Amino acid sequence: MLVGIAKMAAESDLLESKRQVEYFELPARSILNRTRTGMPFAWAINPYRGCEFGCHYCYARYTHEFMGMEDGREFEEKIYAKAETAALLRRDLRKAGHKEGIAIRTATDPYQPAERRFGRTRAILEVFAEGKGRRISITTKSDLVVRDLQLLADVGRANMLHVNMTITTLDAELARLLEPRAPRPDLRLAAVRQLAQAGIRVGVFPNPVLPLITDSEESLDRVAKAAAEAGAGYFSGGLLFLMPSAQKVFFPFLEEKFPHLVKRYKERFERSAYLRGPYQESIRERVRRIRERHGLASAPMEYQPELWAGGEQLELALDL
Ligand code: SF4
Repeated sequence: MLVGIAKMAAESDLLESKRQVEYFELPARSILNRTRTGMPFAWAINPYRGCEFGCHYCYARYTHEFMGMEDGREFEEKIYAKAETAALLRRDLRKAGHKEGIAIRTATDPYQPAERRFGRTRAILEVFAEGKGRRISITTKSDLVVRDLQLLADVGRANMLHVNMTITTLDAELARLLEPRAPRPDLRLAAVRQLAQAGIRVGVFPNPVLPLITDSEESLDRVAKAAAEAGAGYFSGGLLFLMPSAQKVFFPFLEEKFPHLVKRYKERFERSAYLRGPYQESIRERVRRIRERHGLASAPMEYQPELWAGGEQLELALDL
């Protein structure tokens, strides 16, 4: 018998369907969810479940397993837009302190194609634009983010807002292989430039760094150099991790496109979903060197939004 989120998914209304992709509306109990300890932000918002971009390495496929969908492909073909996002956020924000960071996207992309139709991310930003004094980040692989340029600028004037653009490689062919339906790297860079020119704090993450595919000094350096030229302020790389749900899709992809790497990947990920030890250290050092070369910070930097007077007084006034 289906229970919880699996039951809600099974009962969701079909909103629209195109090609093999179907869109549903998913009733949600909350939109602001506590993250586990150790994360750089306390709260997470994911307006969608599933992601049409279909990156072969995507770690978020497990979220569809929670809904009783074990075939990794359903993650890209059945997209759930959470219902009543604005009303839920207005209610949920009462439980979040102003010093606590809020990350829009910890699982699925908030500017995936579904956003053009359903505008759930925009609805969330409109709620943030009503207030001030929050610490907010958005992470995406999509140039659709510039649709909301003015709204983002408004949010960033009253809140500390950072937009993180993920660019794994500048090689358009490789990107198409790895991230079949995500916008091209040059489009993402153009979005970085537009964001920076609008005064929005923006950084680039080459995540996930894929061993023997995107981890060379040359490849990472090209991304960092282009990011700096486009106006990004920070650059930070995280390594690939492969949970069993992601391995189910990623290993067949490797077998087809990178057969010479299958043995080495399986050896590395058989013991753990995470890459640690000397390899992790060497990539950390490589990224640090590259950052220095291009004058990039390692993380988003705090700034004083012009409409946020700052200080405890404001926080007390807003913490209703
Ligand atoms: S854009 Fe992000 S959430 Fe979407 S498929 Fe790619 S890695 Fe997964």
